[in-house]
Amino acid sequence: MPETQPAHWVVLKFGGTSVSSRANWDRIAAILRARCAEGLRTAVVHSALSGITDALIRLMDRAQAGDAETEVAGIVARHRELAAALGIDLPPEVGQQLAELGRVAGGIALIGEVSDAVRARVLAAGELMATALGAAFLNAQGLVTTLVDARSWLIAQPVRGQRPSVLSASCGSDPDPALVARFAQLPGVILTQGFIAAGEGGQTVVLGRGGSDTSGAYLAARLSALRLEIWTDVPGMFSANPRAVPTARLLKSLHYDEAQEIATSGAKVLHPRCIMPLRQQRIPLQVYATQAPEHPGTIVSAEPADSGARLKAIAIRKGITLVSMDSPGMWHEVGFLADAFAVFRQHGMSVDLVSTSETNVTVSLDPQANALDSGEVAALVEDLGRLCRVRVIGPCASLSLLGRDIRAIIHRLGEAFELFEEQRIYLVSQAANDLNFTFVIDEDQGDRLVALLHDLLIQAIGNDPVLGPTWEQINVPQAGVAPRSDWWRARRAELLGLLDGRDAAYVCELATVSAQARALQSLGSVSRLFYAVKANAQPEILRCIAAAGLSFECVSPGEVLRVRQALPDLDTGRLLFTPNFAPRAEYEWALGQGLQLTVDNLYVLREWPGLFRDRAIFVRIDTGRGHGHHQKVRTAGTQSKFGVPLDEATELAEAAAEAGARIVGLHAHTGSGHFEIGAWVDAAEVLANVARHLPEVRVLNLGGGLGVPERPGQAALDLAALDAALGGFRAAHPQFELWLEPGRYLVAAAGVLLARVTQLKGKGELRYVGVATGMNSLIRPALYGAWHEIVNLTRLAETPAQLYTVVGPICESGDVLGHDRLLPPCREGDVLLIATAGAYGAAMASHYNLREPAPQLVL
Ligand code: ADP
Ligand code: ASP
Ligand code: MG
Repeated sequence: MPETQPAHWVVLKFGGTSVSSRANWDRIAAILRARCAEGLRTAVVHSALSGITDALIRLMDRAQAGDAETEVAGIVARHRELAAALGIDLPPEVGQQLAELGRVAGGIALIGEVSDAVRARVLAAGELMATALGAAFLNAQGLVTTLVDARSWLIAQPVRGQRPSVLSASCGSDPDPALVARFAQLPGVILTQGFIAAGEGGQTVVLGRGGSDTSGAYLAARLSALRLEIWTDVPGMFSANPRAVPTARLLKSLHYDEAQEIATSGAKVLHPRCIMPLRQQRIPLQVYATQAPEHPGTIVSAEPADSGARLKAIAIRKGITLVSMDSPGMWHEVGFLADAFAVFRQHGMSVDLVSTSETNVTVSLDPQANALDSGEVAALVEDLGRLCRVRVIGPCASLSLLGRDIRAIIHRLGEAFELFEEQRIYLVSQAANDLNFTFVIDEDQGDRLVALLHDLLIQAIGNDPVLGPTWEQINVPQAGVAPRSDWWRARRAELLGLLDGRDAAYVCELATVSAQARALQSLGSVSRLFYAVKANAQPEILRCIAAAGLSFECVSPGEVLRVRQALPDLDTGRLLFTPNFAPRAEYEWALGQGLQLTVDNLYVLREWPGLFRDRAIFVRIDTGRGHGHHQKVRTAGTQSKFGVPLDEATELAEAAAEAGARIVGLHAHTGSGHFEIGAWVDAAEVLANVARHLPEVRVLNLGGGLGVPERPGQAALDLAALDAALGGFRAAHPQFELWLEPGRYLVAAAGVLLARVTQLKGKGELRYVGVATGMNSLIRPALYGAWHEIVNLTRLAETPAQLYTVVGPICESGDVLGHDRLLPPCREGDVLLIATAGAYGAAMASHYNLREPAPQLVL
């Protein structure tokens, strides 16, 4: 390009997963070479390696207890491994930062706390180390690169009405000719850190979690760049989080407002603050996937491809706390709202959604914007209590329907509202900008409702300018996730043979059940394992699990009898009985049988005391739902029918003593099918706390809930990490044995449902494929919005080319096994396979419509 012409800048931001592997760095180098070949100048902003910011946060938490060594070692190892993979020496800056981290950890241990200023410095280390590696690699590849410290060009500015924050700083975004001139002098690619900036006094500040996107936007705005390219691990912004909703569609083109609204409502792919600087200067934003650069991605600009009224996305934010304020005299009372909001202001809490009625005002507090620890919420409640009656509700999720002119399409949401029939909606809000409609509901219902609402409401029109292909259709490779090796692919011919002469069948591979049982036996920290029979009570499965050495947990006399029939010689000591709201006679029967009983209500001890005299029992405790810093502020478990609430722990000890019962074990169940290791440890800690009132407790039964991957790209539960975490708990509390009660984990992946194609139909844009059995065999999709992988087993080798809605023969519009499934063109008589159906499939089947559910066969 001639020297006299001003350079055209493009800013490229690469996220954590994008900069964590050699394969991606080779792609980054190729992308930069391509931009240079077009005569553009490139400025790269990038994040810390994936997971490093989280590790730095853990480091600071652990350092307060003087035990940060393993965290530091892990961070050192990650950077050394990447340097080795990139074929470069560890740059000196990285060595310095690592040494500094060790020193800061020592300092934190001495003082016992971390100031915000220190926190910002520690967090900044992640980006400083990663960019040193990135610049060294690009230079080694012969791509001249200049590393510029972000603190030399990005300075925090106070924002009117906001407290200055070193952890969530804001900066200016006006065009900056001096910066353009400075960068124009520097050779090659400019590479700088995302997320970090300098405070007005020169100290290090950061822009809030996920803030590297915003660094990219500031730089693009300041350089008046042609565009900002955000390179991440998904090929664009989707109509829902594609990892949770695989049928989410690519949003090909969005207006700034819409992207802003989607990001603010919870879609983590863009930091909410990155849109404004671009919008002000009409700089377009492109979102691309680093591991699949050929995909067209999403473009965000002032000229979207469509401006009609329609829904485009559904987003969810979790960890929301609601504050409900009741005051009978509030109606028409002058100044109540002003007084109440003044209290929020005094506590530095920013309010998100608001809804009002004659006597109540309810507001939501977003964890992104507020440090919602129990102490702060309690102090707020105390001060508000002087004005009105206050109730704190949480953890909640806010679920937002996002699009344009939402008011014009409210009439189409009727069916969606039916989904909420069984759910408490705590707050509804329709944004004044008409871009969103938000419901606040219980957090644990959120994911299910997102999937259901998405399938119901986000529908493409022919040749749609906005809604592109689904996540599944694009099917980009995912970092760190091995392709699935499902047993049923290898046994296709046998499966098809089994279905000869039948229309449908469940088939369970016992070898998979045994393999799962063996995997669980490797948990050295767990003393006993019980299979939750309710997941699947098929006799051959029960025998297979008994042979692997596991015991059984039953929730009804029927389940106990089933186990006894399948395994007549089983020792009674290998059976647990955990009824819930069952009649008195069942407890009498179980105690008469000598079964180890778990009670979950003080009622049975108080009202039927004679039953329990001299009995050794377990008690199920409701530990409150969810985890993390919200635990202490929630109205523990009032929504859940299970377990004795924590605030009845002292009464529990009294009621047991009066009944003459000995409580020898405590039980908790942390939720189903999840992967959060911390959840089991939290539950153990809570139970250990309750056990302080109950000196005879020897066993903590942590229930089940061990997740099984169901979706493409989902990683398996890390059993070794679970074992290590529980091992840590046991070392600290050697007086307790730990038990687990997995159900799904043992049988889900072992079972598939096979069903023959009956009929096909096209209706508008939709193609339906009908199969011979539906919700009468597998109710999970209809009941929970559960997602099961579906393939055409007959045509497994053919290319999937058509999107189908897979339906059963039941007279019920909810009889859908899967929406928008990509399959090869299906024909009558083909066999579809519905995967991961071994748990709660046959077990929950019904005879609805007097159609027999699919029989269970084993391999
Ligand atoms: P990076 O490290 O590149 O900044 P992030 O993890 O911050 O990446 O953001 C990318 C992730 O955002 C995706 O992996 C995806 O799971 C999540 N996400 C949530 N909602 C959406 C959405 N509507 N569209 C695309 N991705 C989404
Ligand atoms: N590394 C920072 C974080 O994880 C910033 C970013 O990745 O955008 O929050
Ligand atoms: Mg991000």
